[in-house]
Amino acid sequence: MTVSQPVSKLPATLIPGDGIGPEITDAVVAILEAAGAPFEWDVQQGGLPAIKECGDPLPPPLLDSIRRTKLALKGPLTTPVGGGFRSVNVRLREEFELYANVRPGRTIIPGGRYEDIDVVLIRENLEGLYVAFEHYVAIGDDPHAVALGSGINTRAGCRRIAKYAFEYALKNGRKKVTIVHKANVMKILTGLFLETAREVAKEYEGRVQVDDRIVDACAMQLVLNPWQFDVLVATNLFGDILSDEIAGLVGGLGLAPGANIGVDTAIFEAVHGSAPDIAGKGIANPTALLYAACMMLDHVGHRDMAARIRTAVDRTLREDNVRTGDLGGKATTKEYAAAVIRRLAA
Ligand code: NAD
Repeated sequence: MTVSQPVSKLPATLIPGDGIGPEITDAVVAILEAAGAPFEWDVQQGGLPAIKECGDPLPPPLLDSIRRTKLALKGPLTTPVGGGFRSVNVRLREEFELYANVRPGRTIIPGGRYEDIDVVLIRENLEGLYVAFEHYVAIGDDPHAVALGSGINTRAGCRRIAKYAFEYALKNGRKKVTIVHKANVMKILTGLFLETAREVAKEYEGRVQVDDRIVDACAMQLVLNPWQFDVLVATNLFGDILSDEIAGLVGGLGLAPGANIGVDTAIFEAVHGSAPDIAGKGIANPTALLYAACMMLDHVGHRDMAARIRTAVDRTLREDNVRTGDLGGKATTKEYAAAVIRRLAA
């Protein structure tokens, strides 16, 4: 049995969220405690309970807590359709300038369509076509005769995300960064991204390899031969699409974690939503949120602890065959968490 060394406490905001959020958060916190993780949680309500209480899924105490801790683990938050609610995720990205979205895609359970995939998509989170500067132009009596939209990429923003990708590659022992663009057609908007990322690549010559792909060819190559990729860096919209494609290659969103990283703040979450169809039944799979917590441990320098948890999860799923219903098993959320904790102690 491994005995964890005492580590100094790290304040962090915990947002259980709504739907399956509280169930999977309980499971993840129990596993983190068993692993000796250093987080001192400031628990904050967000999502539906917060809407009921004060009419806002991201109430001021939650935002104040993240401003203080600069570190958060976030369960899924329902964004009600209509009612003028802006996406909570977009609000958080803007509020804390979380410019890098990191989405690892790794084969966890063998026997799927592809084996041994291990790629990381790094997406610019604040610029590009996502700024949604859009409007209609009326012609005659048709108010929507023409739709216009602009994207914005700044050299500083391109440089920041490219630097993040190359630094990520170095820190994580990755060999290659692929720059994804559409500079053959959007010569200015994504041309600036390609040009700037290539400049940044020169600073890493001899340490990290670089190549580039036009986004449509990249999407096809990901299906034909995903093993050729290591780290991909992309603008906002292309990154959004490719990160879901990569999740599809490794078995869907259920096991996919994500990190939103800013200059001084980072928020970690599962990629899936609040799953209202199974909420309260105790059968949700906490793995994606647990992997997000592992990324959080990596981020604060506890890489060994994160690796131990990932190994325990791999063994629980592959060797013990303890799985929740979405992965074809019968385990409840609590039974699965207990099995991971047993593996941690083994
Ligand atoms: P969803 O991801 O919540 O659910 C899609 C399907 O996957 C459902 O059948 C669900 O039961 C299943 N599923 C998802 N996570 C699971 C888990 N951990 N274990 C087992 N099964 C799981 O997507 P949705 O239904 O489109 O969205 C529901 C709500 O979540 C919406 O309000 C949406 O806005 C919100 N949402 C939030 C986030 C976030 O907070 N990051 C992300 C996506 C969606």
